[in-house]
Amino acid sequence: MTVYNFNPGPAILPTEVLRRAQEEMLDYHGTGLSILETSHRSTEYEAINASAEARFKSLLGLGDEYRVLFVQGGASLQFAMLPMNRLPRDGVADYILTGAWSEKARDEAMKFGRVQIAATTEAEGYRRVPRADEIKLSDAPVYVHLTSNNTIYGTQWHEWPETDGAPLVADMSSDIFSRPLDAGRFSLIYGGAQKNIGPAGVVFVLARTDWLAGAPANVPTVLSYQTYAQTNSLYNTPPVFAVYLLDLVLEWIANAGGLSAMGRRNEEKAAIIYDAVDGGGGYYTGHAEPASRSRMNLTFRLPSPELEKRFVAEATAAKMIGLAGHRSVGGVRASLYNAMDAEGCRALAGFMNEFARRNG
Ligand code: PMP
Repeated sequence: MTVYNFNPGPAILPTEVLRRAQEEMLDYHGTGLSILETSHRSTEYEAINASAEARFKSLLGLGDEYRVLFVQGGASLQFAMLPMNRLPRDGVADYILTGAWSEKARDEAMKFGRVQIAATTEAEGYRRVPRADEIKLSDAPVYVHLTSNNTIYGTQWHEWPETDGAPLVADMSSDIFSRPLDAGRFSLIYGGAQKNIGPAGVVFVLARTDWLAGAPANVPTVLSYQTYAQTNSLYNTPPVFAVYLLDLVLEWIANAGGLSAMGRRNEEKAAIIYDAVDGGGGYYTGHAEPASRSRMNLTFRLPSPELEKRFVAEATAAKMIGLAGHRSVGGVRASLYNAMDAEGCRALAGFMNEFARRNG
């Protein structure tokens, strides 16, 4: 029986990619070794590492002015590595708060320099991202940080804020490569791979090359962007298997038509679920405000917490898993990353309609 995986991350991966990894598992490209047994200094791994960076930039149409680094420590380490490398003690960084992950990023930055909250929607329970007229930047911020998709609340930016020339930085952990992206607007983008582009264990840092030099001298070697840039992310042992799988996922995205195809597909998928939310005669209520709705993590409520519990339990029995909302928000959350297909969304929408009929 098909299991539909709506987990927020680690999350669904393309079956074709998993099958390919399975086929290559015991003998990678005729070496007689598994990639899991292969040295990170081998020509095979160097090719994977180079391919992953090249595919990453090619999907975004970027050239030599950007690099992609592969780092461990999760997106959480980037909350700290970013200010450690880029925020001088006397500098100010602007943070736009749209949820718990941007708060955590802000908290780390405060350990290194001054932080200004340029906007926050906390008072409204983070049910939307700020409007352009609510964003107040400081005079000369070193950078402006935002979280492109708020995994917990199910909100997403659909238009980037203007920053008057200040460098824009984003945590794109939960929507990287889910839609076309004008990456040239950003000085640095980071994110964990474990939602849209791979397994847990590797984080990408896409940055302008001039952002990768000149870390303060007291930054530890392994936490300096410059180290990763100078060594092609091979200063120390990288997460070989995670980068290998990420490279296969990027190949899958390119073969599926790239980011515009992903964007169209994800819009259609999200519409299937939001139609079930909005067309349920008021049985379901969307958690996010409509203009800020995410196409990756779709959050909604039922008439009571008891019904939400029953919904998740019955969905799980019907092999639709990972639907419980985050503990801080409750309700239901369906994560529809790239590898989820429309059929899975139709199965969930059908279940929603049927559940509302039976329990309305
Ligand atoms: N940022 C966002 C938007 C996330 O969704 C998450 C994890 N769910 C994180 C950061 C933290 O990532 P990690 O667990 O890789 O540190």
